[in-house]
Amino acid sequence: MTDATLLLCGAGFNDEERARLSNAFPSVHVDGPDLMEGLDDATRAGIRAIAFKGHKPLGGAQMDLFPELGIIANFGVGYDAIDVAAATARGVRVTNTPDVLNDDVADLAVALILAQARRMVVGADRVASGRWAREGEMPLNRKVSGAKAGIVGLGRIGREIANRLTAFKMDIHYHSRSEKETPGWTYHADPVSLAGAVDFLIVALVGGEETRNYVGREVLQALGPTGVVVNISRGTTIDEAALLDALEAGTIGGAALDVFLNEPNIDPRFLALDNVVLQPHQGSGTVETRRAMAELQLANIKAFVEGTALPTPVN
Ligand code: NAP
Repeated sequence: MTDATLLLCGAGFNDEERARLSNAFPSVHVDGPDLMEGLDDATRAGIRAIAFKGHKPLGGAQMDLFPELGIIANFGVGYDAIDVAAATARGVRVTNTPDVLNDDVADLAVALILAQARRMVVGADRVASGRWAREGEMPLNRKVSGAKAGIVGLGRIGREIANRLTAFKMDIHYHSRSEKETPGWTYHADPVSLAGAVDFLIVALVGGEETRNYVGREVLQALGPTGVVVNISRGTTIDEAALLDALEAGTIGGAALDVFLNEPNIDPRFLALDNVVLQPHQGSGTVETRRAMAELQLANIKAFVEGTALPTPVN
């Protein structure tokens, strides 16, 4: 038994993040929701808040293990791992960490576009392997500045990506469920029309069941053999089987991906492709931004405990 009121749930907390939370509240730590059942009854009875990190599903059955649970504070803007409807039904508040990570994720999206189009991974390998000296110049690649970019999901991050791409003189198109105020960007009511109009299709949707396979075979077909798809959202938002088929067949030009269906054990078909740039889900992974996310997660828990307004509520 412990006197903990806070449960840290997730294997990914670093030492600084763990210390910040544990210094604020008496805490216990489990590596994932599947391990919550292993806590003894008396410890579970004291838990009022969960600081959650990671992508393993956290559902109603786990919430029911904690009779005094009042808040699940997610580390991250995307809370698709948490069953929010189940939390709401139990009167449990859910919070996330929006906005503080927009810049980093948008920066990575731009880096992915440049790395894919300019074949920077292939180029680095050409230098490191000695092929540059043996075989000479790289085959020519594709121009980014002035190309057409299509954002799927013009939310907080999507908008930051579009803002950055205007500095590359790109023509900005987007698809959202409704038309937005923009500085003259072109709206498409459906993602197929968007994909047909652009060179780079950048997916910035929320994850979860509602957007599963939002970018499907038809969208990829419309993007065409020189089109490149970039995903910094969640692996679920693109039909991954359709994407792999299109990349293998060359019916799209390439992909640059930070997120996958089965992380970190991604489909091995990706590893055999040379028209992809692959990243290990590191969109918000800078020292500065992770610290800001950790502070916002803690601010939400403190507000709950003190009975003041939650800074960034989800439900
Ligand atoms: P946001 O502001 O809520 O924007 C999300 C976009 O998703 C909006 O454009 C919204 O469309 C769209 N959307 C939501 N529900 C939808 C539905 N049912 N059908 C169709 N479209 C829907 O979120 P954000 O802060 O930009 O974050 C976006 C996502 O990025 C997060 O949820 C997370 O999964 C991901 N992310 C990834 C990383 C990484 O490390 N790679 C880091 C942070 C975040 P409308 O415009 O029509 O409302």
